[in-house]
Amino acid sequence: MEKIDYEQLAQAAIDAKAMSYSPYSKFQVGAALLCKNGKIYTGCNIESAAYSPTNCAERTALFKAVSEGNREFTAIAIAGAPDGAEPNYCYPCGVCRQTLKEFAADDLIVIVAKTATDYRTHSFGELLPYSFGPDDL
Ligand SMILES: [Zn+2]
Repeated sequence: MEKIDYEQLAQAAIDAKAMSYSPYSKFQVGAALLCKNGKIYTGCNIESAAYSPTNCAERTALFKAVSEGNREFTAIAIAGAPDGAEPNYCYPCGVCRQTLKEFAADDLIVIVAKTATDYRTHSFGELLPYSFGPDDL
């Protein structure tokens, strides 16, 4: 497997954060999803005045990738923070973890980035242990 450029993926998530549509929470999030074929899909959170239709950055990136025929992934980077605040490590919500479970193996690398050089890495299995997924049906 090719070496993953964590800094490049973190920067792509940070760049995607700039596209966030978050007038209600004022919490901007960007994500960058690396496919096994090397393609990177980015996403941002997109809020709705009705609140519940809001979509997170991670799922935006995932849905873009899957809708273009990509279902195998090696890593996802996430960057998020309230408007104007110092960046902090922003972890995927429970809905995104479950949605990723549909396609992600336990060894998917999850990068939570404050900056392109200040980030933490986790395995997906660490973030969603004892999970329910396609293999359980
Ligand atoms: Zn989410």
